[in-house]
Amino acid sequence: MFTSLVNFDIQTMTFMLGIDATLQVLILGFLSLLVNQYRGIKTYTIGRAFTTTGFLISLSKVFPLSFTLVIAGIFLLVGTSISCVGVSQFTDKKIKLHYLFIINLLFLGVQLYFLIFKDVFIYKTINQTVFQIIIFTISAYCLLTTPHKSFIGSSRFMASVTIALLTSLVARIIGLVRNPPEQLFVSNDINAYTLVVTFLFTFLLTAGFIMMVCQRLYYDLKVAANTDVLTHLLNRRAMMYQLDIAMNQFYRSDRTFAIILIDVDFFKRVNDVYGHDGGDMVLIHLSQILQTKMRKADSASRWGGEEFLILLPDTTLNQAHEIAERLRAYVETNPAPPNIQITISLGIAVIRQHGNSVESLISAADHALYAAKKNGRNLVAIANQS
Ligand code: GH3
Ligand code: MG
Ligand code: MG
Repeated sequence: MFTSLVNFDIQTMTFMLGIDATLQVLILGFLSLLVNQYRGIKTYTIGRAFTTTGFLISLSKVFPLSFTLVIAGIFLLVGTSISCVGVSQFTDKKIKLHYLFIINLLFLGVQLYFLIFKDVFIYKTINQTVFQIIIFTISAYCLLTTPHKSFIGSSRFMASVTIALLTSLVARIIGLVRNPPEQLFVSNDINAYTLVVTFLFTFLLTAGFIMMVCQRLYYDLKVAANTDVLTHLLNRRAMMYQLDIAMNQFYRSDRTFAIILIDVDFFKRVNDVYGHDGGDMVLIHLSQILQTKMRKADSASRWGGEEFLILLPDTTLNQAHEIAERLRAYVETNPAPPNIQITISLGIAVIRQHGNSVESLISAADHALYAAKKNGRNLVAIANQS
C-alpha cells in the first residue's frame, strides 16, 4: 500500500531520515547549551545522538548489510535507553539503571544469537522492536507519573507521542509477521511504514521535549517573578496583581474584599539582639503562621521589609477584624525559633467602607496600622470611614 501509493524509495527515505534526525540532535544540542539548570537535557540529547548514529550507520555500505544492521540496531537501542534516562532525570522520576543495563544486555544476547545461528532479517527486527517497546514504555511511565506540575501539559503531550509510537511499533511487529521483507532496504510496505513512522515520531518527540523545557522555564520564571525569596509568600508585584483582580470583581460583580496590613513591632530590636539571621527567622516564622492560619481563599504577601499584606475576598469588616485579632494573639503566644518573642500591629481596611481604589484602600490600612503603633503596638486597628 505505502510503497505503491506514493512510490517510496526506501534508500532515499532512510537518507532523509538520517538528515532529519541529525538536525534534531543539533537543535537539542543547542538547547542543552542554552538551558543548563535542569538535569536530563544533555543525557536526552546524547541518547538521540546515538539513535541518529544508528540511522546513519544503517545507510553506510562499509560492512555486509546484515552485520551493519545489527550494529545500527545496537546504537538505536542504547540511544533509546540513554534518552530514557534523560527523560527520567528531567521528570525527576527515578528508574533503576541496572535494570536498563540488563535489558540492553539481554537484547544484545538475543541479537547475537540470531546473527550467529539464525541470521534472518525479521527475527532480528522483531527482537529489536520488542526491546524498543520496553524502553519506550519506561519513558512513557516517567512522563505520566512525574511529580512536577510545572510542565504537566507538555509532559502529557510527550507521553501521548511515546504511547502512539509504542502502538505503531506493535503494528510494525504484526506487519513484519504478515508480510516479511528480506532486508531493510527492500521496497516493501512494512519497511516504508517503519521509515515514515520513525520520521514522524522523531520529530514529534523532539518537539515534545523542547515544549517540556519551555513550559518548565516559563513556570519557574513566573514563580520567581512573583515570589518572595525569603518567605516564599507572594511578593508585592504579585499582590498588586491580585488586588487589581479583586478590584475588577468588585466593580463588575460587587464582590467585596478586605485587606490587612501587618507590621512587626520593634523589628529593629530583633535584628540588634539576634542579628540579621534572627530577624530573617522571625519573617519566615511569621509567613508560616500567615499561610497556615488563613482561609483557603485568602492570600498573603510580603509587602516590604517586615510588612505583610493579606487579601481577604468576600469578607466583611467584622470577619476581617476577627481574623486579624486571631493572628495577633497567635503571634504573641508563639515565639519564633530559637525563642524570639514578637508581636505585630495590624491595620484593616474594607472596600467601599474605607476606599474605592487599591491605592486609597492601602493608604487607609496604612493609617490604621500607624494608629495601632501609636496606641501602644500589639493591636488591631480599623481604618477611618472614607
Ligand atoms: P515599629 O514597631 O515602629 O515598626 O518598629 P520597627 O523597629 O519594626 O521599625 P521599622 O518598621 O521601621 O523597622 C524596619 C526594620 O526591618 C528595618 C530593617 O533593618 C528591617 N528589615 C527590613 N527587611 C529585612 C529583612 O529582610 N531581614 C531582616 N532581618 N531585617 C529586615
Ligand atoms: Mg515597617
Ligand atoms: Mg516594624
